[in-house]
Amino acid sequence: MGLRYEEVTEDVTKLFNEVQARHFPELKNAKIITLFDLKKRASGGRVVLGRIMKTNDLLRHLTKDEAIAIEGYDYIIALDKEGWNAIGDADRVRLLRHELRHTYYDIDSESNPYRLLDHSITDFYEEVELNKDDPRWRERVATIVEAIYEQKKEDMKQDRNKGKKRKGYGGNGE
Ligand SMILES: [Zn+2]
Repeated sequence: MGLRYEEVTEDVTKLFNEVQARHFPELKNAKIITLFDLKKRASGGRVVLGRIMKTNDLLRHLTKDEAIAIEGYDYIIALDKEGWNAIGDADRVRLLRHELRHTYYDIDSESNPYRLLDHSITDFYEEVELNKDDPRWRERVATIVEAIYEQKKEDMKQDRNKGKKRKGYGGNGE
């Protein structure tokens, strides 16, 4: 059995660094390693072209690198090698950008500010086309509904407090 992961070539690192510097300035100090995955992975019936993982303490320790990452890596990106070799640079940039879009820099966290985010949209191509005029409609509507629920919660709390007060007055009511 051969090894599943392989070091990427220099051109991958070069393209990756360009994408990172151009679109993700907040990751300036993040340590990210890209690897080729030699094994095909599928999800939802589709081949997975790339994945990003956040490292844990153990992986950090194991990926310590005197020259680049003294404290180990923050993220690992695994690229399907067959896929990478089959696509052009424009799609490669899209793929790297997508994976980096999963990162989140938590400015308030001192110990471990590098987090992961899930996709911001899950949709159908037909809907994307029809909603072009308001692509973030779901976010907009969700904010409104969220506020209604918040208000309801607040109202219930107030009602409960009123009830308590009445009892405090001897339970006579008004
Ligand atoms: Zn993704």
